[in-house]
Amino acid sequence: MSQYQAVKGTKDIFPEEVAQWKYVEGIVHTLASLYGFSEIRTPVFEYTELFQRGIGLTTDIVGKEMFSFQPDTKGRSVTLRPEMTAGVMRAALQYNLFSLAPVHKLYYIGELFRKERPQAGRQRQFSQFGAELLGVSSPAAVAEVITLMMQVFESLGLKELKLRINTLGDTEDRVRYREALQSYFVPFYEILDEASRERLEKNPLRILDSKNPVLQELVAGAPRLYDYLNDSSLRDFEKVLFYLAERNIAYDIDHRLVRGLDYYSHTAFEVTSSVLGAQDAIGGGGRYDGLARELGSSSDVPASGFAVGMERLLITMEKQGLLTTINPLRPLVYVVVQQQELVDHALTIAWRLRKAGIRTEIDLVARSMKSQMREANRIRASYALFIGKTEYTTGSYALKNLLTSEQTTLSLEDVLQVLHQPATKERINL
Ligand code: AMP
Repeated sequence: MSQYQAVKGTKDIFPEEVAQWKYVEGIVHTLASLYGFSEIRTPVFEYTELFQRGIGLTTDIVGKEMFSFQPDTKGRSVTLRPEMTAGVMRAALQYNLFSLAPVHKLYYIGELFRKERPQAGRQRQFSQFGAELLGVSSPAAVAEVITLMMQVFESLGLKELKLRINTLGDTEDRVRYREALQSYFVPFYEILDEASRERLEKNPLRILDSKNPVLQELVAGAPRLYDYLNDSSLRDFEKVLFYLAERNIAYDIDHRLVRGLDYYSHTAFEVTSSVLGAQDAIGGGGRYDGLARELGSSSDVPASGFAVGMERLLITMEKQGLLTTINPLRPLVYVVVQQQELVDHALTIAWRLRKAGIRTEIDLVARSMKSQMREANRIRASYALFIGKTEYTTGSYALKNLLTSEQTTLSLEDVLQVLHQPATKERINL
């Protein structure tokens, strides 16, 4: 065993799993482009202030979960990104994308870093895919991102997911609601835990997020934001629900879903998976019309987006038996060397096959022919191509179909032809 271990809260992803990741990523790429989203890749670290402004000083992420460091002695502090939205918005504003077109639809897949206590479904390095629709904010826009997210889940075959949705109203609604919440919680100050006391002043909505069992009854009795919405906010929410119903997307309205970030407004949503246990959120998002201004933009950039945790998505797929048929790419042909003095010739043949676009494997440790055949079967090659003295002198090679045991003798050109046939290719990943 190595004396080094992976850092706590990080994970190695081995080839079998990488095949599963690539499968999910493939669906994300296909569906995002179907909905007109283009991929963006932003740096893994950003100046710390971006997240302080963009996520909010009162949040757990900024308060205690960021991996921050100083790149050089005089440098400004930088932070490994704990979420993607702030970076995407920063890039859009920095490069003035909105002078080119008013609306930008961007999606991403990438690694994030949060100093959380690792547990099942919670890591310190994890990955998300997500989409951001920037430059317009409306019920139709937020419904579009929710629909894309739900279509990804559906295409992957996920079952028993629950979409919870709520509205946070507009800024004025929330000012009135904040006051109502403060008046409600103040008389119970003695009961509140320390975190909630802090939130009472700065961001009372986040008390509703509290997982402290002692506070659940108190929280349940708190006023509902819904009762403080003005007519236009209510109409906005109803329109979002109308779009979801039109598209057969089932949802539950959850008045306690607040997603604690200051810049959210109107719709907020979260998807949970019943097979995940304590960390059951698989994705979420909403409208964040206030973010651009928070980042110093002189004009409003209304926006909506979602983010889905890849690891939790894959855990859910695994528990639902959806990963068993996803295999890494198998070699199509295994080049079997019959006499070791022909190994260089065999290596050249393997190279020619690979140049011709055929997935080829060959022994590199001078194994006996029997062990080469065993290896070919272990890695599930579809064909074996034999290189022996006769083949070397005549230029005709024995090609054995390992699925049917049929064997034919062919010139290298004919071997290439056979292996290129679509029927052969379909068999590769049985
Ligand atoms: P958030 O950005 O906190 O709304 O998270 C969006 C999604 O990312 C969650 O629903 C999870 O699926 C995933 N996620 C968040 N934090 C972690 C973590 N520490 N480890 C693994 N997945 C996470």
